[in-house]
Amino acid sequence: MEIDWFRVFFSDQPYSFFIEIVIRTLIMFVAAVVTLRLAGKREVQQLSIFEMVMIVTLGSAAGDPMFYDDVGVLHALTVFVVVLSAYRLMILLIARSDKAEALLEGEPHYIIRDGKLCIKEMPNDELGSDEFFSQLRAQSVEHLGQLRCVILEDTGRLSVFYYSDEEVKPGLPILPDEYRKKSRTIEDSGLYACAHCGNTLQLESVARVVCDICKTEEWVKAINRRRIT
Ligand SMILES: [Zn+2]
Repeated sequence: MEIDWFRVFFSDQPYSFFIEIVIRTLIMFVAAVVTLRLAGKREVQQLSIFEMVMIVTLGSAAGDPMFYDDVGVLHALTVFVVVLSAYRLMILLIARSDKAEALLEGEPHYIIRDGKLCIKEMPNDELGSDEFFSQLRAQSVEHLGQLRCVILEDTGRLSVFYYSDEEVKPGLPILPDEYRKKSRTIEDSGLYACAHCGNTLQLESVARVVCDICKTEEWVKAINRRRIT
């Protein structure tokens, strides 16, 4: 088998195609900048889902005519106009209707209230508890009793509100060493936290206890250390 190196590097295009690429790329670059300016989006850090869809579709349409000789620049520009119009229409819808806003942008959800996970309010599996606990640990949270509330914003970020030192209550430890000690059997009496929802209960030594909030049976000894940053 012999490799056609000329084809690898130049496809079947004449050298003049390089000049064409320069022109095509400049046009698409300017068009992309203008479109994003018209969309009114200044930073890319916190994109809602449909803003991301806009960026991805624009990016895809912008790249193709830069170096595919069978894709015309005007076709890509048509995509730009349509995507931009759809985006502006969405913004209008969101500004006018709370329902449309919730549907398109998502809503903030309470993940924790009063040191306990809001199992019932939580959208299903939106945030796996492993990832969620690790994000809290990054904020130096040792156990859920340190938290007044945590809100999952529509951007996917967590807003965390703490109890003051005096208000900290016993809660579910989330440091791996302590959390891993979760067990179905309660060996000595004391205050325990449900490993699934953070519900705290005074338990005596028994074989098994079902959490009255989330109906699971695993418990961890609650701790009430203050948050030290
Ligand atoms: Zn529970």
